[in-house]
Amino acid sequence: MNAQPIVGAASPYDVASVRRDFPILATTVRGKRLAFLDTAASSQRPLSVIEAVNHYERTSHANVHRGVYQLSQRATDAFEGARERVRRFLNAASIKEVVFTRGTTESINLVAQSWGRRLQPGDEILVTWMEHHANIVPWQMLCERTGAVLKVAPIDRQGELDLEGFKQLLSPRTRLAAFTQISNSLGTMLPIEDMVRAARAAGALTLIDGAQAVAHQRVDVQALDCDFYVFSSHKLYGPTGLGVLWAREAVLREMPPWQGGGDMIRTVSFTKTTYNDLPYRFEAGTPHISGAVGLAAAIDYLEGLGIERVHAHEQHLLQRATAALREVPGLTIIGEAARKGGVISFLLEGVHPHDLGTILDAEGVAIRAGHHCAMPVMEFFDVPATARASFGCYTDEADIEQLLSALATAREVFG
Ligand code: PLP
Repeated sequence: MNAQPIVGAASPYDVASVRRDFPILATTVRGKRLAFLDTAASSQRPLSVIEAVNHYERTSHANVHRGVYQLSQRATDAFEGARERVRRFLNAASIKEVVFTRGTTESINLVAQSWGRRLQPGDEILVTWMEHHANIVPWQMLCERTGAVLKVAPIDRQGELDLEGFKQLLSPRTRLAAFTQISNSLGTMLPIEDMVRAARAAGALTLIDGAQAVAHQRVDVQALDCDFYVFSSHKLYGPTGLGVLWAREAVLREMPPWQGGGDMIRTVSFTKTTYNDLPYRFEAGTPHISGAVGLAAAIDYLEGLGIERVHAHEQHLLQRATAALREVPGLTIIGEAARKGGVISFLLEGVHPHDLGTILDAEGVAIRAGHHCAMPVMEFFDVPATARASFGCYTDEADIEQLLSALATAREVFG
């Protein structure tokens, strides 16, 4: 493959320079160049994020919101500054709408346990067949508790959502439609604008799982017109252990607190406890302060590169890699939707995905093998697992070449 620079509005996307921002990409694995193709599971961190966390730890750490001393003020400013950074990034109307959580999973559990508490027997939650377990199991647990019913919108063999099927499952009993923006197992970009519109017309709220999208395309929660948007910092070049629940203020205001403890209260007595304002009412206990600082630095980094340019770069790689993989004898791509993010699931005839992952690892290629926390998708395609390569802002043509060459080795081994 010839390396072709992607020409954006400003200057060509310089992936070599982007790669130099990520120290880990210079490490070798088993004596080989590292081809990191597992960004969908967790992205790597640029030096600016590592340094922002380091700087905070060295100069500013104390607990937030409680201290009158200067260090605590500094930590509070850093933490609340990060919240404002997230607000701007999502184009949220107010910082009151930005709740820090431990990740996408916790954000969805928060909605299920707080907002979901009001559900009545017979109420319906609508998800799709291609959700991550994080957007299935909390709703199943909620249904068990409340007598609500979980409905599942169908998908087809291409890995596309059946939009008509989705619309038909919306009913006057649908309280929430919760769906992913990009499938982590198939790469499918769902028609979320149409889905939000249809759900809203049916009187349902919408939750978008942005875990696989937010680092790869511009997200504007006001333009999306959804009610909840959730994502994890660690898939956005930020630290692990931190995530965001964005929720429309009017919706959040009606939700009861879910975890009790410090910071989420205004006053506590044994006769009556009153709760804090938004968003603190949903943030019990000491938060992941350095994580928030790192997330803000990650957003700065990504916006410095230009999300649109990163998107174009990843789409270019997706097309190149898809075309090349189609030429590999015995290889089948699982998920051939018309619009995809930088995720390719595949099978190699005669090789279990786990064995393939091991052989590729020996060649320095890090891919994921397994059910990708999407067992219903595996069941639908009647496979136990797939191999999955996924891309980020630092993925380059050499990574794809290394994957192809490692696949050739795997074919020889299992030939
Ligand atoms: N939703 C999707 C689409 C994902 O891809 C993932 C992680 O892979 C999650 C939810 C869960 O994210 P986390 O483990 O960061 O909570």
